[in-house]
Amino acid sequence: MATRIATLGSHSALQILKGARDEGFRTIAVCEKNREEPYKRFKVADRIITLNSFKEFPSVENELISENAIVIPHGSFTGAMSTEQIERLKVSYFGNKKILKWETDREMQREWLKKAGLTLPRIFRNPEDIDVPSIIKFYGAKGGKGFFLAKSGSEFERKIKEHHGKAYIIQEYIVGAPIYIHYFYSPLNDEVEVMSFDKRYESNVDSIGRIAAKDQLDMGLDTSYNITGNVPMVVRESLLPEIFRMGEAVVAASKAIEKRGIFGPFSLETVITPDLKFYVFEVSARIVAGTNPYINGSPYTDLKYSEPMSTGRRISREIKNAIASNQVERVLG
Ligand code: ATP
Repeated sequence: MATRIATLGSHSALQILKGARDEGFRTIAVCEKNREEPYKRFKVADRIITLNSFKEFPSVENELISENAIVIPHGSFTGAMSTEQIERLKVSYFGNKKILKWETDREMQREWLKKAGLTLPRIFRNPEDIDVPSIIKFYGAKGGKGFFLAKSGSEFERKIKEHHGKAYIIQEYIVGAPIYIHYFYSPLNDEVEVMSFDKRYESNVDSIGRIAAKDQLDMGLDTSYNITGNVPMVVRESLLPEIFRMGEAVVAASKAIEKRGIFGPFSLETVITPDLKFYVFEVSARIVAGTNPYINGSPYTDLKYSEPMSTGRRISREIKNAIASNQVERVLG
């Protein structure tokens, strides 16, 4: 039976499924009840399977196996299932599952990025050591709820009182331009591609600047970073050599920490300072939603491909190339 491409109906499923169709695959969207509409309306799925919750995903595994499906993971996967659950899945899975724990564990992720020689924001293990403006992040805080800034140990102690007992990390706050870089690494031709860039549109932090400082204080606002959408962008061209270098370094370091390393799409979350230095504060080891503005390709994929090439389509192109050259196991984890 011909291979099918399947994914969860959310996050970046529209471009994944459309990209699969463009590469000649039939597609399956696994949706949560009452959330099927976009996949019906945009006609990207040949089949829709409905679940009460994504957490029930293992219950459709056998069906997907009998459909000869390859599952494409995205952010809703890691949200719905633990790393261990994903590792246990038997259905064909695009990407290296073994790299997932290097992404989810903050300490391990830091080790990976450091091995790649990237510049990371400092971490303060002891609040008394805070000597620069810092951001205090809570673990699992969806949308950065409750994150706050402090520039000294005493300010930290005063503000942390409202967050009794929560696990946190204290990170140097980098003042600069946040830029999210989208890469694709092909193990078949050993090349790191720059696919596109985005910046995020977050509520309420992106609207606070619309209110005068005095009103901000009067309103007693708390900042949150709840993602509502992604804004496409291009970078200053002279930054590209460093961007390629960073992507290649992340791939090389991933092979040093885990035999097969990372392959397929990944993203670096960065802040660029006024002296044009990149600080990397996170790596995502899969397709990110910031690629969604580019269903029809980005300026960079336009330079490389003579056809519209989204990251979703690039995934299916890789699978197609792997099948054609009899090495599909090289793109499955
Ligand atoms: P994710 O789901 O990607 O882990 P999150 O909600 O846990 O996200 P982060 O992405 O780490 O939180 O941070 C939320 C926001 O704070 C981002 O928009 C980012 O721009 C900003 N931010 C995070 N860390 C720093 C930093 N060290 N310096 C400056 N800004 C930062």
